Amino acid sequence: MKKILVSACLYGDKCRYDEGDVSFDDPTFLKWKAEGRLVKICPEVCGGLKTPRPDSQIRGERVLARTGQDVTEEYEKGAKEAVRLAEENRVACCIMKQRSPSCGSKIIYDGTFTGGKIKGEGIAVRKLRKEGFKVFGEEDMEEVKSFIEE
Ligand code: SF4
Repeated sequence: MKKILVSACLYGDKCRYDEGDVSFDDPTFLKWKAEGRLVKICPEVCGGLKTPRPDSQIRGERVLARTGQDVTEEYEKGAKEAVRLAEENRVACCIMKQRSPSCGSKIIYDGTFTGGKIKGEGIAVRKLRKEGFKVFGEEDMEEVKSFIEE
């Protein structure tokens, strides 16, 4: 059975900065969840950040919390753990939460905390791709299904 790395908040964990989740109710995603195919990770929590926590955004080469705290190191640590888990489970691909500074795969917030978004990828996704893993966003389920069936 091909395993898939997924953002823990999509899986249903309340690990978002505001202690919420974004439980994903796509039928195929739920079927894979029930089969035990999904390997969940929250890179921010794995990097040592608490929940709840101030939201953060990527600004240049750094990740800054809304409070101004530099959390780049925590994000890098969480990204390493995502790669470790992906390798350990030999995942076929990843489904990660779009727009997150860790998990975004196409779009992220622009670093101004004003709601603006730009093309880009989160720190964990960047590292996963660097190590050769295919990463999709939750809006790409049709593509994921074809990829998994190949
Ligand atoms: S780091 Fe990823 S898994 Fe964790 S809350 Fe943010 S989007 Fe979800």
